[in-house]
Amino acid sequence: MEDQGYPSQSRLLEWYEQNSRSLPWRENPDPWAVLLSEFILQQTKMEVGLRYWKKMYERFPTIQEMSISPLEEVMLLWQGCGYYARARNLHKLSIEIGSRTPPIIPSNPSELEKLPGIGPYTAAAIASISFGIPVAVVDGNVRRVYSRLNAILDPKNSEIQKWADFCLDKDRAGDWNQSLMELGATVCTPRAPKCDICPILSNCKAKLTENPTKFPMSKRRVSTKIQGHALVISSPEGVVLSQREGNQLGGLWGVPITEDPNGLRGLCSYYQIESPEKVGEIHHAFSHRDFHLQVWRINVLKGGISSASVPISRLDQRILEAAGCGES
Ligand code: SF4
Repeated sequence: MEDQGYPSQSRLLEWYEQNSRSLPWRENPDPWAVLLSEFILQQTKMEVGLRYWKKMYERFPTIQEMSISPLEEVMLLWQGCGYYARARNLHKLSIEIGSRTPPIIPSNPSELEKLPGIGPYTAAAIASISFGIPVAVVDGNVRRVYSRLNAILDPKNSEIQKWADFCLDKDRAGDWNQSLMELGATVCTPRAPKCDICPILSNCKAKLTENPTKFPMSKRRVSTKIQGHALVISSPEGVVLSQREGNQLGGLWGVPITEDPNGLRGLCSYYQIESPEKVGEIHHAFSHRDFHLQVWRINVLKGGISSASVPISRLDQRILEAAGCGES
């Protein structure tokens, strides 16, 4: 590890004290507030995540409040934030902690990792930020800072973790972890690093190259293209919706969809309808699946429910909008 570049602890912590964004879970790093922020921010940008965090924390100021609430209510509040497995795991976790005596979030990272939806990163973040346990976090921001400080194109996770463990300030683990992540999020950003104001510029090898942004090498996202149909069956009572299953949208409600480009006839026959009208097309991308759907609509005399009464995904909101049946 001797030949590697390390950020100066005092300089980075001083920069963090003066420049970090003011966030409610930083002002009050209570374990539930921090845990909630970590779940929400796993795949969501800060501005949006902060909005969701406030909404969720206001409704569920303690983990017990969530544990006694139905999943449906959590999903409704999470609606639009995406990656719904996080909301399902959060609810499951709240029930698990709520059933313990006393119902408290553990401080030990290995105990935290046994809870639903918590991996090594989230466990280390909660343990260090809320409890001051000296464990180093490695997330995408830390990976980028490491890669650039050392001018390594494709670092292995194990080597980043070793480096992070080595440079951790054990007396201020929470601040230290947050300072590295904050640097990656606000200064050493993926496309436009602000090297001129970077507090660890003098330690950085990537800055000596012509283009620091080539570190780390970006990993190509592999996406599956799905061509299919969405069927909006509408009546004066609402639209036909059912609860979805599966990892991505499980727990949310949605209109009938087929992922088979030739599956429209089968879908119509299942719902016993004929001759729906084509009303539009939508393209909606999830992280690994790109949906290209033809949207069909048919009006019937009765049946269905209000789409505002159940949690639905952005994909279904867009389908309903395309069919002229959107509700907010
Ligand atoms: S000098 Fe530039 S590339 Fe290096 S760590 Fe700082 S912001 Fe990132």
